[in-house]
Amino acid sequence: MKDTAIAKNNPQPFPMTERTLLTQPTVGIDIGGTKINAAIVVPDAPAGEDCWRSLLNAHTPADSETFLRTLSDMINQLKQESPIQAVGIATAGVVDSIHGQILGSTGNMPALTHLRNLKERVEAEVQLPVHVENDANAAAYGEWCYGAAQGARNMFAITLGTGVGMGIVFNGQMYRGSHFYAGEGGHIAISYRRERKCTCGRWDCWEAFASGTGLQKTAELAVEAATETAQAEFKAKYCTNEEVTTYAVIAAWKDGNPIGHQIMDEWHHHIAVGLGSLINVMDPDMIVVGGGLAQFVNFDLLLERTRERSMSAAFNLVPATLGNYAGIVGAAYLAQEAQR
Ligand SMILES: [Zn+2]
Repeated sequence: MKDTAIAKNNPQPFPMTERTLLTQPTVGIDIGGTKINAAIVVPDAPAGEDCWRSLLNAHTPADSETFLRTLSDMINQLKQESPIQAVGIATAGVVDSIHGQILGSTGNMPALTHLRNLKERVEAEVQLPVHVENDANAAAYGEWCYGAAQGARNMFAITLGTGVGMGIVFNGQMYRGSHFYAGEGGHIAISYRRERKCTCGRWDCWEAFASGTGLQKTAELAVEAATETAQAEFKAKYCTNEEVTTYAVIAAWKDGNPIGHQIMDEWHHHIAVGLGSLINVMDPDMIVVGGGLAQFVNFDLLLERTRERSMSAAFNLVPATLGNYAGIVGAAYLAQEAQR
């Protein structure tokens, strides 16, 4: 075991990295289960201002030919506005980003199951170099290039949503592992008791506790375990049709309800358990927390809990700053990287 006192007293042992700069306008696209967002990411945005322009969005088509046509229409429209150098696409699924192929499950996007060779298909349509990346990777890279983690040497970003996404920038580069499976931090096990089944088919993944779905499960259990009176009060005040949703929990928590407080406290504990383990493996200088649920994170509490679980205390834990656009920005920067 290393002397933790050394790490704690040595907050920045490595120099920061140079910020990667974009040299030409690049299209960034983020494909989600319900919506596709596309924009031009520009190199000359004034510091502190949004670096994306001409945002377009469309519903995600279920049919692969319509899907392909939607993507090319969006790109062609953006091409008319700027001299575009390349296109970066962020999508769910495990992505072989060298060949631009989607390897793993694409969740709720049936169109992509028939468009595994996405890079080749889109390049043929738009006559521009296309780079395809896993969406959590792209979001992390976006935060590193232009968001909350600029200049970090080793960082990872997590997104707290329906699941827990993760992307790693290691030594100033996107880290994808040997087979593009790196950054599946949502699926590290945080218990061996077979408490909760995960969407991946395994048991007790971090995601089954720290995600929105996990938070809801924690809430259901906490309400079930409460006294009858407390339970009835909680349901009457915060739930519709007695359903314990994350919305109910957030409302109860904001209201100072003791069950709401207990659930949110446990949720922070669940997030910290995973973060602490990841920090002990990677020793990052920066961790970014984003996703739809990040707005409900108490960062002081999470930092305190995470430090209790990690050998090093020399890391910054910060909220994401690019919001829903991190994937677009990261995909564009990665598309440029791929040209080198
Ligand atoms: Zn899992």
